[in-house]
Amino acid sequence: MRPTNKNTLLKVVILGDGGVGKSCLMNRFVSNQFDEHSFHTIGVEFLNKDIEIDGETYTLQIWDTAGQERFKTLRTPFYRGSDICILTYAIDDKLSFRNLQMWKNEFLYYADVKENAQFPFIVVGNKSDVEVQEREVSQLEMETWCNENEISACIETSAKNASNVQEAFTVAVQHWLRLETRADKNECIYTDTVDLTKKQSESRTSCCINASDE
Ligand code: GDP
Repeated sequence: MRPTNKNTLLKVVILGDGGVGKSCLMNRFVSNQFDEHSFHTIGVEFLNKDIEIDGETYTLQIWDTAGQERFKTLRTPFYRGSDICILTYAIDDKLSFRNLQMWKNEFLYYADVKENAQFPFIVVGNKSDVEVQEREVSQLEMETWCNENEISACIETSAKNASNVQEAFTVAVQHWLRLETRADKNECIYTDTVDLTKKQSESRTSCCINASDE
């Protein structure tokens, strides 16, 4: 069961090609700012931000790749212990959309996630503010890809004008909650909560006892 008296800590990783706006999305969500000329420092970084849903507070520990995605694979600690994965592309960049598959596969491999459908992925199509003629990926294409990949949450955002950014993170947590509730029904006990200091280095420890196993 989820604790109700302390914040639940969720590790959120944002994946996608360089330049799709991952850092800007994080800055928009955490600080409500948009820096056109943001640049990366090398080394994985994360920021914490609280979000309230149905009277419960969740602390999102959001990890940015800090530019390392340009080397195509990220270090395992980046993925380890993730609770939510945000797969990001830019709606004016078809290649970044095609590469979602690669990012998803890499995540499943390195985060050691066994069942795709049991993990809260959310797909975010960023830069929704661009001119119509610059759009290279339609909303329908995004939804079709998500259906094919058993991902039930997707949304278009703009870090530039703040459109849907708060909503994207809210939807991500709601999606996590849905899967967690399903897991509760199977008597799964997840212990990935509360300790903010340990979270960054520890993997998700979970113990699942299916009612039918007994
Ligand atoms: P990252 O490499 O994925 O972290 O991408 P950045 O966050 O560094 O952003 C890459 C570029 O895209 C920067 O020039 C940003 O100003 C721009 N950018 C980010 N988000 C948006 C957005 O929502 N709309 C537009 N038009 N540009 C954006």
